[in-house]
Amino acid sequence: MTATTASHAADLVAALLFVLSLAGLSQHRTSRAGVAYGIAGMALALVATVVVAAQDVSAGVVALIVLAMALGGAAGLWRARRVEMTQMPELIAVLHSFVGLAAVLVGWNGYLEVESHGAAQTRVAGELLGIHHAEVFIGVFIGAVTFTGSVVAYLKLSARIASRPLVLPGKNALNVTALAAFAVLTAWFTAAPGLGLMIAVTVLALALGWHLVASIGGGDMPVVVSMLNSYSGWAAAAAGFLLDNDLLIVTGALVGSSGAYLSYIMCRAMNRSFLSVIAGGFGIEAPSGAAQEQGEHREVRAEEVAALLAAARSVVITPGYGMAVAQAQHPVAELTRRLRERGIEVRFGVHPVAGRLPGHMNVLLAEAKVPYDIVLEMDEINDDLAATSVVLVIGANDTVNPAAMDDPASPIAGMPVLRVWEAEQVVVFKRSMASGYAGVQNPLFFRENTGMLFGDAKQSVEAILQALPEGHGGPASAVRQTTPAAG
Ligand code: NDP
Repeated sequence: MTATTASHAADLVAALLFVLSLAGLSQHRTSRAGVAYGIAGMALALVATVVVAAQDVSAGVVALIVLAMALGGAAGLWRARRVEMTQMPELIAVLHSFVGLAAVLVGWNGYLEVESHGAAQTRVAGELLGIHHAEVFIGVFIGAVTFTGSVVAYLKLSARIASRPLVLPGKNALNVTALAAFAVLTAWFTAAPGLGLMIAVTVLALALGWHLVASIGGGDMPVVVSMLNSYSGWAAAAAGFLLDNDLLIVTGALVGSSGAYLSYIMCRAMNRSFLSVIAGGFGIEAPSGAAQEQGEHREVRAEEVAALLAAARSVVITPGYGMAVAQAQHPVAELTRRLRERGIEVRFGVHPVAGRLPGHMNVLLAEAKVPYDIVLEMDEINDDLAATSVVLVIGANDTVNPAAMDDPASPIAGMPVLRVWEAEQVVVFKRSMASGYAGVQNPLFFRENTGMLFGDAKQSVEAILQALPEGHGGPASAVRQTTPAAG
């Protein structure tokens, strides 16, 4: 068996491992195996690529490739070990930007290689030349859009720039014009390639990527992250065509299509139009309600919440980004255990975009060993909230905002939310009256049955644990008797 045949076989096995990885990652139980398949597939792909490259280039070049891989691997390992769970989406955005940049560089390389050596001396010749030109152009375009889009997503997610949407006059017309210009430039380049056109498409795509993501509001960022994930896959596939690397094409297509499907699912969960997301076209209305007078909020203390819980029949906990920031999942799990020991029904209601990445809350709760069967999705728990004694909103904000249902002018209007306000009592754990990621004020905080427990969520839950009366007494007489006094 020649090295090339062996590498084709390795490509096939790696592609299958990637498919198995995606299948494994779709369920909690099999997710570890999914990660292992992914690692094995990528290791195999890298080795096969280097072995094939080694046939055509000198030992010095192979050494350089291995050195680059070692440096990249070490940097990746170092970053992944240090990253906080709350910074994961930022890290993902940066990684997407690398894929985009790589696709741009591969495209430019493909163009310069043919230009400098002449088509006849490269593997591209004759009728294939037109296809090669189109590949170069499309690859550079998708890569550059992905690159700047991901950079803006990173800046927004890490709060280095404001998460509110950029609203340029004629925003949609700008996007459509950019796409039309791309189509014209592609046709032109395929017929008569030139450096000026390469520069033009690169600048155009960099500007479009920036504008697409900058125009999207904070509350819609989850869809943007998965959309960029999809774009990065297509960018990799485009690079695969240029490099004549089948595995890169397959892997890129897997990432591109699974990312697109995830974006579609998230759009449905957030009641957004899939097409308008791809066009960067939603979340652009001027925020409303933020400045509206909302009335008085009522502050409660940890001891009062402990008494309220001790008297409850049923408790639902809706975690959000603040639980991740405070790393409160362990005391929350302990509180759950203590309440269940008392015979109180405790369940979790997890919103599909709570936190900063899909499944964020599920990961934290699983880490703290909260039983899976009491962790329910929003649709599974929403109808039960009206019959719930106490809801603990731990570091969630946008995902429990009634304005999404009541205020059609709100930037998050139409997004399904956990209807926590229907419960008898609601306690909101946060540090201040600040708004959530979407930058929208939350009328929940001013409702009569809502008490605000200010402070770091971890410390607040620990204080409740300390104040919780000992014993297995079960729900006491009536919740209303222990309703916290107005603050
Ligand atoms: P939000 O981001 O709306 O609100 C989080 C709240 O946590 C804040 O109001 C903050 O208030 C509070 N908080 C922060 N730190 C602490 C702490 N240490 N202790 C207690 N409270 C704290 O959270 P949600 O989870 O409800 O909503 C997620 C938002 O993020 C949505 O808008 C979603 O669209 C967006 N998003 C989601 C992504 C995903 O994939 N899941 C990706 C990108 C964005 P205070 O500062 O007063 O403490």
